[in-house]
Amino acid sequence: MKKITILGASGSIGGSTLDVLRLHPDRYSVFAVTAFQNVEKLERICLEFAPEYAVMVDHTAAANLKARLQQAGSSTSVLAGVDDLMSVSQHDDVDIVMASIVGAAGLKPTLAAVKAGKKVLLANKESLVMSGKLFMDAVKASGSELLPTDSEHNAIFQSLPDNFSSIAAAGVRKLLLTGSGGPFLSTPLEGLAKVTPEQACLHPNWSMGKKISVDSATMMNKGLEYIEACWLFNAKPSEIEVVVHPQSIVHSMVQYLDGSVIAQMGQPDMRTPIAHCLGWPERIGSGVASLDFLNMKNLTFAAPDFERFPCLGLAMEAFAAGGSYSTALNAANEVAVDKFLNGELPFNKIGVLVADIMNDWSLGEPDCIDDVITADQVARQKAESLAVSLCKAL
Ligand code: NDP
Ligand code: MG
Repeated sequence: MKKITILGASGSIGGSTLDVLRLHPDRYSVFAVTAFQNVEKLERICLEFAPEYAVMVDHTAAANLKARLQQAGSSTSVLAGVDDLMSVSQHDDVDIVMASIVGAAGLKPTLAAVKAGKKVLLANKESLVMSGKLFMDAVKASGSELLPTDSEHNAIFQSLPDNFSSIAAAGVRKLLLTGSGGPFLSTPLEGLAKVTPEQACLHPNWSMGKKISVDSATMMNKGLEYIEACWLFNAKPSEIEVVVHPQSIVHSMVQYLDGSVIAQMGQPDMRTPIAHCLGWPERIGSGVASLDFLNMKNLTFAAPDFERFPCLGLAMEAFAAGGSYSTALNAANEVAVDKFLNGELPFNKIGVLVADIMNDWSLGEPDCIDDVITADQVARQKAESLAVSLCKAL
């Protein structure tokens, strides 16, 4: 029986993880669940899965959850605050940590799990984008098993040989990172200024949290995934190609030197990569229906349009620039997406805000995680004030 902590249990990935766990009560038990403030969701999860701990970052929400669980006769202990996210990630009794907090807030608890040598299922791509080399060094130092849960990286992982050590040694020519292009793939460019958060969050194939849905609409998500792939597979930029594939059936591919291409396919449903990571190296059921090839739509592939999706190009430039550019890119994007979701910034200004932060960035390579957090905060402050002037200028 393996014990699992789910960071971000109240979210979309958290919910899909619980769906898979529900199918395997004989293999996994839930040790801890965490959320920011969603009391109702966490209460329901605690009553069904009876974890030992529930952590809420928000202290008022934690007090509320504690009262409700006591009244319901639950034995789950409720903890509060950021530090306890780390306690339940690195706890001696934990075998597996699902890292599915959204955004930079996931960095510290994910890294705590890595440093404690856990099997870490990485959905929170922002933590790796922010801290790149330091994160991968921590994986190597602790011997943590880092399994890519993001569907594209999971597809690449499945398409690489089992004993993969490097792109060159595996005879790989390129990693082909697919992306749907999101809901605005063919919206007239001049219409992008007026699109609403509801439209941006209506992804044609995937049902996800709001932040990653907006990232998919700008293709910043593919940019973050490009950086994520460079770190996970130790790949050079010239070894990764982004391919637009609107149907989201081919989740990514590996092209080998002999002309072979190995692809991983499946329904656009995160329960598949989650079950793959949970069970690895075995295969376990996920509850996802098989693909029906006889009734499938045509599968199409195209090059990305960098004019329509400037955020994709900015992410590639940030990785190439090195230093703390990727940290700044991620922080500026989080501020911009938040402002867009609150109706304070037009959709087509997300890329403008990120570009402005990048053009004015001067902090160097971080030596430690505190440097990463400083870079994140500096970029956020700059982005906040730039957003105000961008909005005034409209
Ligand atoms: P959601 O918005 O659905 O869920 C986010 C989770 O993080 C919630 O549990 C939320 O708690 C918690 N959270 C939010 N802010 C904080 C904070 N400051 N501190 C601690 N916890 C916090 O996101 P998703 O599940 O869609 O995405 C999670 C991660 O997985 C992201 O990094 C995303 O890029 C990645 N991912 C998601 C995919 C998907 O299909 N959804 C696919 C591939 C990767 P509360 O509910 O209380 O706010
Ligand atoms: Mg993905």
